[in-house]
Amino acid sequence: MKPAAIVHLDADAFFVSVELALRPELRGKKVAVGGRSRGIISSASYEARAAGVYTPMPTQRALRACPDLILLPHEGDYAGVSRRMFDLCEEVTPLVQRNSIDEGYLDLGPCGLADDAAVEARTRQLQRRIWDVLQIPVSMGIAANRLVAQVASKLRKPRGFVVVPRGGEAAFMAPLDIGVLPGIGQKTQERLANRGVHRIGDVVDRGEAELASLFGRDWREWLARCRGEDDRPVNPERGEAKSYSQQETFGEDIRDVAAIEAIAKGMVDSLLPKVRADGKRVRTLTLLVRYPDFTQESVGRSLPEASDLETAFYALIPKLVKQAWTQRRPLRLISIKVSGVEDGARQLDIFGETDERRRRLAGYLDRLNAAGGANVLHGHQLEAPGAGRRRGIGSPRRP
Ligand SMILES: [Mg+2]
Repeated sequence: MKPAAIVHLDADAFFVSVELALRPELRGKKVAVGGRSRGIISSASYEARAAGVYTPMPTQRALRACPDLILLPHEGDYAGVSRRMFDLCEEVTPLVQRNSIDEGYLDLGPCGLADDAAVEARTRQLQRRIWDVLQIPVSMGIAANRLVAQVASKLRKPRGFVVVPRGGEAAFMAPLDIGVLPGIGQKTQERLANRGVHRIGDVVDRGEAELASLFGRDWREWLARCRGEDDRPVNPERGEAKSYSQQETFGEDIRDVAAIEAIAKGMVDSLLPKVRADGKRVRTLTLLVRYPDFTQESVGRSLPEASDLETAFYALIPKLVKQAWTQRRPLRLISIKVSGVEDGARQLDIFGETDERRRRLAGYLDRLNAAGGANVLHGHQLEAPGAGRRRGIGSPRRP
């Protein structure tokens, strides 16, 4: 049986956590982020919540309920921290769906993990890494589908970690309050309570007519949800995330490190012109390697700043090959993905003159290659010993 490998990640009190990462002396205190006059609370620490502060709540009311509340203005780099958090996720799996600034889904299917224990270990590692790198606490739920993973991640916040084994969905859902189901608001919950439905399990043994009167036309969908059924895939193209990728299946399996690195660089060379053509920059490079028996390994790394230059990513390649290709057996396929897409124009100022010159040169090369008559090689293709012999096995076709 395939392990349950869908993870829902939900940062705990995200805006407050971003502020606390900069002001660790405030940890453990009643802290909230929000506007002071006529504002609302957008995020509250768990200590503040225990004192009656919730979100969204008018700030003035929060200050009355909790006079020693430490109120911080809503002005941190929340989008930047969110991006770095999801970049760390994309170092684990290419299938990351950024749902909102602080919530998303991961599908660890492509990681080739053997069983539930391996999925759990990898997910705990990610939870720790997000804390170590960003000092952002997150809660995780692991399940066989998105719905159950989402319910699981919210069950034991903060720093929750809840695993629902495949096949255990209905039993996991049954004792939970019906209000934990996404789409059941407070009003619906009260209406259902008046009909004797308090827990999710109260729904599943009702007859069709009663279900129709409880949930209306869509009662079959609601029944499926109450049983913990969901077949929506994790979709990385939804939300902000977008990526560029390329893969090559080799005519003959290869096992030469220099060849693998050269092919990976060739893929970077063919992806970055597309990134530039879209006016974007990218942060994360992910390498996936597949063996002839179709087992595969995948690992990613991020640059400190997004870039649209091939040269920025070259240095990551040997590290990725070393980390991803642990079995050192011949490979049947490799795939390269660049993700963590950002708008190109926004960061022009941070690049020095050298990068600016490289970028202009890269632009010339793009146009020459697009014109079709040229066969312009990048520096590394000349450097790699015997690179010419391997063309046709794995490097991208050129005109
Ligand atoms: Mg959250």
